[in-house]
Amino acid sequence: GGNREESHRSQDRGFFTSKHLPIYRHKAKLVQAVEGSTFLVVTGETGSGKTTQLPQYLHQAGMCRNGKIGITQPRRVAAITVAQRVAQEMQCTLGREVGYQVRFDDCTSQDTVVKYMTDGCLLREILADPVLSQYSVVILDEVHERSLNTDILLGLLKKMFSDPAKSTKGRSFPLKVVVMSATLETDKLSAFLGGCPVFAIPGRTFPVTCTFGTAVGPKDVESTGYVKEVVRMALDVHTSELAGDILVFLTGQSEIERACDLLFEKAESIDYRYDVQDQTVEGLLILPLYGSMPTDQQRQIFQPPPSRIRKCVVATNIAATSLTINGIKYIIDSGFVKQLNHNSRVGMDILEVVPISKSEAEQRAGRAGRTSAGKCFRIYTKEFWEKSMPEYTVPEIQRTSLTAVVLTLKCLGVHDVISHDLFTFKHLSLWCVGCRRGKVTQLGELMVEFPLQPGLTRAVLKGSSLGCQDLLLPLAAMLSVENIFIRPGNPEKQKEADKKHRALATKSGGMNDFATLLSVFQLCKSSDRPSAWCKDNWIHWRALKSAFSVETQLREILLRLQQRDFPVETFDGNKSELFRRCLCTGYFTNVARRSVGKVFCTMDGNGSMVNIHPSSSLFDQEADLNWVIFHDVLVTSRVYIRTVCPIRYEWVKDLLPKLHEVDVYELSSVARQEVTDEEMIKWETREAVSTEDIVKKLEK
Ligand code: ADP
Ligand code: MG
Repeated sequence: GGNREESHRSQDRGFFTSKHLPIYRHKAKLVQAVEGSTFLVVTGETGSGKTTQLPQYLHQAGMCRNGKIGITQPRRVAAITVAQRVAQEMQCTLGREVGYQVRFDDCTSQDTVVKYMTDGCLLREILADPVLSQYSVVILDEVHERSLNTDILLGLLKKMFSDPAKSTKGRSFPLKVVVMSATLETDKLSAFLGGCPVFAIPGRTFPVTCTFGTAVGPKDVESTGYVKEVVRMALDVHTSELAGDILVFLTGQSEIERACDLLFEKAESIDYRYDVQDQTVEGLLILPLYGSMPTDQQRQIFQPPPSRIRKCVVATNIAATSLTINGIKYIIDSGFVKQLNHNSRVGMDILEVVPISKSEAEQRAGRAGRTSAGKCFRIYTKEFWEKSMPEYTVPEIQRTSLTAVVLTLKCLGVHDVISHDLFTFKHLSLWCVGCRRGKVTQLGELMVEFPLQPGLTRAVLKGSSLGCQDLLLPLAAMLSVENIFIRPGNPEKQKEADKKHRALATKSGGMNDFATLLSVFQLCKSSDRPSAWCKDNWIHWRALKSAFSVETQLREILLRLQQRDFPVETFDGNKSELFRRCLCTGYFTNVARRSVGKVFCTMDGNGSMVNIHPSSSLFDQEADLNWVIFHDVLVTSRVYIRTVCPIRYEWVKDLLPKLHEVDVYELSSVARQEVTDEEMIKWETREAVSTEDIVKKLEK
């Protein structure tokens, strides 16, 4: 009770209980709605309690009698943090009744009945068990985000029920599907699910005043100057606004860490006697929040700050809808987000920093008005808003290439992926990894078991049939964890770190970044004191620890596959060649050839000009380095390839023409939607353009 300000305060001080949440009054009706219909759409403002409360209500109502309640999240951090919270609310140990599963981290047990997981995990489960026989309820959360995996799950679940004979086969009780969304754009969703009922949780929000800045205009779309501006703005708010916490939106880890350092430095020199307007504010607590952060650090985010201290959380987009932090009164919006996009300049999917959409900006602003009126400070100009920001965010399924997903779908028996009704496919480069339209090959079936990108999986499988899994499994693990090399901000220390990293590269042969990763893995693993070894070599111990665990898990999967019909091959040649040839089978989409000077040209038909990144051990190599493969691409003002190794043309010669065909096929926009089998066959049987032709064309 009491006035608003008071209840806002009490939440800040930790007296907050789940009974205060908007969803609470609708508990009985919600349970009834879930029980009463196969599909149900639930909407409600972010923070109303959907993710943390609804599964508990269903659990209390006895809906776990026959099976589990599974809740998907597009982001792994969200799955983990929310599970922690719910375990705490239900007073049980995480991993028992309440657990979570994300890629490479399974925290569930036989007892788990409320299971939070990433959408990718459920996609894998549905693959093994198409009727999800272990579940009584499946909740797809954050559907408004339109993440690729969630979109696909939505399509698959719909399909499952479109054939009632099939949907019940293998199930002894009906499955309930709840689809949750933060936006009110639910008509389309309900229509897609055959006009299913919609349950809207009435929200209460308070007005948020938004102001535009002067620092970032339409011309600054590619500059990174916004970090400084965001910091300046945050300090301005801290010194001139009344008490209340700040939430800052930036795009990624390194940026967030830089902003926190800057903030910390500048906040040191504030004299609280004279500089701040609100005399009840006596300090600033700065907390970062991003995906790969250790979870114990993440927990701190939700705790109320000590009395008279203002909390400032510097976060990625994860704080926009997935996680709700209580007590936020001020938003600082950078106007940017990091997004996976298909980049036509490079011809690959890469993470890019792009302006957010207007609807995203509104969502960010709304985070300040949950418990009382708030303010949102946009660092960009009104002109930026009008000219550089799209109305809505384009769904991931229309932004990225779909290789892995199409492969998954094919293994599920969804062969007509192109007409799968949810999607407008934009890029389809699947068949070039060896799995053509129609039935998936034996290789494809093996591939889909690995939670890795198809190229890397292919290399691992090749290596395993050649008996060198001990090279490929650790490498795959190293490429699956966050960056392992520490890059200190301080220039002196940077030099020291560079020197150590160069020494590690030399130790592994000096001309192959993949081999360096492998060697770091092996050296650390065989060291008596691995954490000290890491410290000494400027390597992130946390990342390596995850690599060890990932490697073990991949090895288990491989062992399981090898029980089946697994191909065996032989090779005579040295180890370095063997290693690189295995890589070529997976990375032939990422081949580049020296063009002029230090510039390379990609061979995927786009012919993009790329440079070797300075962090690569091949950066300074001249001589006869003509052909390379690379793991990833970094786009700044230039296009860089990172994690590179030299190869021979003969190793990829036969693979490249396929690639060229794919490009033509994409250009023809055949993959877009309405494609007849006839057209498809035409494309698949057309004569390959020879690699020699491409090379000749390039030489001109
Ligand atoms: P929704 O899914 O509707 O956006 P949530 O269920 O995520 O809402 O959040 C409901 C409430 O639970 C919010 O007030 C949020 O701050 C709180 N909450 C969620 N996770 C945690 C946590 N780990 N620690 C403390 N509070 C949390
Ligand atoms: Mg939620």
